[in-house]
Amino acid sequence: QAKQAGRNTLRFFDPAMQSRLQHRARLEADLRKALPNNELVLYYQAQVNAAGTPTGYEALLRWVHPLRGMISPGEFIPLAEENRLIIEIGAWVLETACRQLVAWADDPSKATLTLAVNISPVQFHEPDFVERVMQILERTGASPRYLKLELTESLLVEAQQQAREKMLRLKQTGLSFSLDDFGTGYSSLAYLTQLPLDQLKIDQSFVRHLLDDLANAAIVESTIGLSHSLGLEVIAEGVETEAQRAWLIEHHCHAFQGYLFAPPLPLESL
Ligand code: C2E
Ligand code: MG
Ligand code: MG
Ligand code: MG
Repeated sequence: QAKQAGRNTLRFFDPAMQSRLQHRARLEADLRKALPNNELVLYYQAQVNAAGTPTGYEALLRWVHPLRGMISPGEFIPLAEENRLIIEIGAWVLETACRQLVAWADDPSKATLTLAVNISPVQFHEPDFVERVMQILERTGASPRYLKLELTESLLVEAQQQAREKMLRLKQTGLSFSLDDFGTGYSSLAYLTQLPLDQLKIDQSFVRHLLDDLANAAIVESTIGLSHSLGLEVIAEGVETEAQRAWLIEHHCHAFQGYLFAPPLPLESL
């Protein structure tokens, strides 16, 4: 049947799928030009302490598409990972973040701010990832002490030994590691003791139902306890209400990120 249809096979596609594929191909072609055309920009979301004072920021990537306007990373990062553009994009994010740290270092009121950067598994698994990070640190002159790399659990389960070695080499520069979206992966907790992590980031899905779901609250409470026992910092992401903040403080979580404090903002609005 398909063979017989020959070059007209396309009419057997479901039109919705065909338009999705076209949309994707267009987006992919545009994404290749995003970096050279300066369409990528970093937004910064505050990470605050119990007093509500920012102690640092998370850099979140935005794509300002010339026709479609702002496109969120949820839409284009998976695409960039598939076609490996994320390697160059990720390097640009790191370099831009490091330059920002250098700019802050000159201002006494900002010199101790940390900056967290999301690292894609595709980027991390590149054989020269460690060297590239070191080169960027050297080239920009940023202090690794204020740079935090956010990794995800999925990145750490496969090739755990290799991941550990890379992390240890990077740790020697003085930078730190945060485990993003903690609790959403399907990995064993054993890696928490085997990897040189500095911080756990409680995923926003647990924070969202903190006050209306006892099981969720139990998970958050144990995560905070686990962090303290292992000597790790713990930060809650997606904090949107005062009630969530109060609950978290009462349960000894002292670092927060979320719309309650500030959305991700362009640099000039910080
Ligand atoms: P993430 O690293 O877990 O970042 C947190 C996401 O939650 C961000 O979405 C942020 O805007 C959003 N958010 C912050 N506070 C709240 C809140 O109170 N409520 C709710 N509902 N959401 C909140 P965003 O900026 O769309 O980024 C989505 C994901 O894209 C990030 O999740 C991260 O995994 C990825 N991403 C962003 N920038 C980069 C990047 O430079 N490189 C890589 N590899 N991934 C990135
Ligand atoms: Mg993150
Ligand atoms: Mg997260
Ligand atoms: Mg996430």
